[in-house]
Amino acid sequence: MHQGIAGRLLEISNKVQAACYQAQRSKEEIKLVAVSKLQSVDVINEAYALGINNFGENYAQELAEKSLACPKDIIWHFIGPIQSNKVSLIAKYANWVHSIDREKVARKLNDALETEGKKIHALVQVNIDREESKSGILAEEAVDFTNELIVHYPNLILEGLMFMPKITASKKAKMDTMNKIMDLQQLLSSKIPSCSHLSLGTSSDFEESILSGSTILRIGESLLGKRS
Ligand SMILES: *Cc1c(COP(=O)(O)O)cnc(C)c1O
Repeated sequence: MHQGIAGRLLEISNKVQAACYQAQRSKEEIKLVAVSKLQSVDVINEAYALGINNFGENYAQELAEKSLACPKDIIWHFIGPIQSNKVSLIAKYANWVHSIDREKVARKLNDALETEGKKIHALVQVNIDREESKSGILAEEAVDFTNELIVHYPNLILEGLMFMPKITASKKAKMDTMNKIMDLQQLLSSKIPSCSHLSLGTSSDFEESILSGSTILRIGESLLGKRS
């Protein structure tokens, strides 16, 4: 079972390639983000040495610590829920943020970025399954919300949408969700052509997500190993 990061990366790359072939898409359109939450700096350095340079973190403090300890040319993606008292850490250490899910957070992040004198690539998180417990804005609000952010918060470079679909048992429900996501992303990019990214797909569903138009895969355990 223990084939190491190199072996797992090869396996994932082969699956990505096969899914791209099936979807008639170019592999170059797809960015792989290694989700390194709760993984050690050694694990990140090992993956980096294999050529991975996009990493995803869920906790602001952990992001800050790892960013300081790891190679400087790593591109950091903040993918976790954003607490408004942590926006300054995110503004300082992240290059991308996938989880913009309310106006207040966007405003605070924009202000913190102003202080830092930088901009960040941003995705709007959508709650596609309409789960009460889940963060994210509703699908029918996604286009207007994105527009509002573009108008009011110039330090956020809006790039598209992020989804964390429910891991459902039924294949049919999953297909329905994937189709909804694809339609919404197409609607958004038809209205705002610069919003061409779709962050979708984890260890358990990245191949389907490529068929649904994902451009950013967030893969944790199946690449870096079990989280401690
Ligand atoms: C942890 C996490 C992932 C990665 O999940 P794996 O099952 O380890 O691939 C992806 N996206 C988000 C938002 C996460 O929190």
